[in-house]
Amino acid sequence: MKIIVTGGAGFIGSAVCRHLVGDRGDTVLNFDKLTYASNLASVAPVADSPLYSFRQGDVADAGALGAAFEDFQPDAVIHMAAETHVDRSIDSPRPFVDSNILGVYNLLETVRAYLRGRPVRAASFRLLCLSTDEVFGSLGPEGLFDETSPYKPSSPYSASKAAGDHLARAWAGTFGLPLMIANTSNNYGPYQFPEKLIPLMILHALEGRPLPVYGKGDQVRDWLFVEDHARALALVLERGKIGETYLIGGRGERTNLQVVTGICDILDEMVPRPGGGSRRDLISYVADRPGHDVRYAIDVSKIERELGWTPQTSFEEGLRRTVRWYIEREDWWRPLHNRYAGERLGRAAE
Ligand code: NAD
Repeated sequence: MKIIVTGGAGFIGSAVCRHLVGDRGDTVLNFDKLTYASNLASVAPVADSPLYSFRQGDVADAGALGAAFEDFQPDAVIHMAAETHVDRSIDSPRPFVDSNILGVYNLLETVRAYLRGRPVRAASFRLLCLSTDEVFGSLGPEGLFDETSPYKPSSPYSASKAAGDHLARAWAGTFGLPLMIANTSNNYGPYQFPEKLIPLMILHALEGRPLPVYGKGDQVRDWLFVEDHARALALVLERGKIGETYLIGGRGERTNLQVVTGICDILDEMVPRPGGGSRRDLISYVADRPGHDVRYAIDVSKIERELGWTPQTSFEEGLRRTVRWYIEREDWWRPLHNRYAGERLGRAAE
């Protein structure tokens, strides 16, 4: 299949490019604006493949996106380009509106124009938009999100993703676009920009710096290993039913504090602390993020039942692989770490 992957230089996008090109032999055009969160080094494993190409562009730029479609003639799109960091959406919401709402609008109009007058292509075309479990808001201590959960976003980030989903469903309903949406849980794994919880904590802990935990660290997230996620998205693109939504999670519910103590213990085992002692001593509790959702959890039974996908990587195994990767790949994270040294973001609402 010829697939445009938007945001393919980001964390999940690069995993998807590596999987589609490297494991499956699909032909991919990676269309990415190259924001601060991107890193072309993350697609280095497939960058020399004749099946892979890259084009720098903004999904909200109609001319650039339209030209990419006309030149590449895709059979499908996986749309992942987005501003993604909740704390940054608190400090500076505008780029989230531009990329996550206007960007989706422009993508939908581009797909519509591309399929107009091409009935054969339109009959088999597939558009998969990646969304998040954060659009559903917060759960109490019990229950799971599923495909029927109502939207109740609580941060500028999740509201912008929700808005993009509403536009996409409206364009599918009104103009017949062949849409599928995947709402997925917190991803982790190699190649994640070091402002997100797991890589941030690994790098702080490696450097012996304080490990800032929001509130009491009792927020619960479902953690999905990014390579399991890439497999799931490829499967949804290939075999998912047009018009359907799929929730994808890792069956890996953990509190933030469990995640951080887990990282400390793995690092203490792999790279004992100079002078001894546990890195758990580095944990420091800081004021909670405003509007911080308490718990997200995902019912993955639909994708398991209908597409035969299941998460293969337990949280313990995935976390060990991730910690090991950051220990070994300083060449990848050091340049990013020099640009963003781990200072606290998301304080504009205080
Ligand atoms: P990321 O921040 O690592 O990467 C985003 C990529 O999109 C970057 O390469 C960036 O340059 C690109 N981009 C941003 N705005 C763009 C624009 N206007 N035009 C073109 N490219 C643009 O993000 P990620 O964590 O890989 O997330 C990818 C997608 O998955 C997003 O849609 C996000 O909402 C969704 N998602 C992420 C998670 C997670 O845990 N990371 C969970 C659920 C859903």
